[in-house]
Amino acid sequence: MLRLSEIKLPLEHSESELESAIRSRLALIHVPADSLIRYTVFRRAHDARKRSDIKLTYIVDVDVKDEAAALAHLNDQPHCTVTPDMAYKFVAKAPESMKSPRPVVIGLGPCGLFAGLILAQMGFRPIILERGKAVRERTKDTWGLWRKNVLNPESNVQFGEGGAGTFSDGKLYSQIKDPKHYGRKVLEEFVLAGAPIWLAVGSSTVLAIVFNFFSYGGLVFGDTSHRLLPRFLVFYAFLGGLNFFLLRALIWAGLGPLWAQALLLPVLAGVGFVGMRRFVFGRGPTGSLRHLKVGSGET
Ligand SMILES: Cc1cc2nc3c(=O)[nH]c(=O)nc-3n(C[C@H](O)[C@H](O)[C@H](O)COP(=O)(O)OP(=O)(O)OC[C@H]3O[C@@H](n4cnc5c(N)ncnc54)[C@H](O)[C@@H]3O)c2cc1C
Repeated sequence: MLRLSEIKLPLEHSESELESAIRSRLALIHVPADSLIRYTVFRRAHDARKRSDIKLTYIVDVDVKDEAAALAHLNDQPHCTVTPDMAYKFVAKAPESMKSPRPVVIGLGPCGLFAGLILAQMGFRPIILERGKAVRERTKDTWGLWRKNVLNPESNVQFGEGGAGTFSDGKLYSQIKDPKHYGRKVLEEFVLAGAPIWLAVGSSTVLAIVFNFFSYGGLVFGDTSHRLLPRFLVFYAFLGGLNFFLLRALIWAGLGPLWAQALLLPVLAGVGFVGMRRFVFGRGPTGSLRHLKVGSGET
């Protein structure tokens, strides 16, 4: 497979423009246009160095019909190389007859889950031990803290099936620059697990809203009553829209996207706090953490 980098296209471009840019690049290494079998985008990044002309920069991996012929011309072009081998390499394989000893993994967070998965894929029969509760019960305990201020020290946002990030909104630190491509193995496993994109994006958006409702309501205003949810959703959408339009305005005025968002953060935090108090939760901060009870779950 060949890797083509530094393919630059305007922000608003069509799929066919990308394809024809790939064909033009291939022509430079003497690959005829009809030789392109398929391509996958390895990376897409914004090049915002020139503010008035922001571009998308692609790295794509391509399959071509006569790869050997193309390889002979690779030296001519610095931005055409051979795609590196990104496949995960198992460090061992369990002997067929091996039934014991079974490796033990402590903790069912992301690291424990993947350690267990890799061990199983290598043919071992790992046992995973987790001190906290299963995710369903853990959800009740965690919401018990957010809604009723009762902390169960053994089952909470940190401890239990799924580990610490279970109740986050699901963004992942993707390690795209990791030379060993471990992050790719993780992403491949997610895809193999069968989660379609719409489900992944939809569920992480819902989780983000729920997380923000309970952290704002529980920790800041001390009220997470369900009747507030419709008003919260409206104001949350308003904040998202406000962020979008102000960001566009600042970029249009010539500010870089990162600076623009950094400038907006304190403004949006202020508007968010005042708006939540005025329109959603209807009162000032109660300092609800003062009422936190550490114990068995009784209020
Ligand atoms: C609220 C929150 C939001 C977050 N949001 C994000 C995010 O959006 N994106 C992101 O990339 N990262 C996020 N993180 C960080 C991310 O969750 C952690 O980096 C990640 O969970 C670390 O994984 P881990 O497997 O090393 O440890 P953990 O996830 O902490 O897992 C350790 C597991 O071991 C168990 N355990 C501990 N001691 C024992 C024992 N003695 N015996 C048995 N089991 C034990 C614990 O119960 C736990 O389940 C968030 C973290 C929190 C708390």
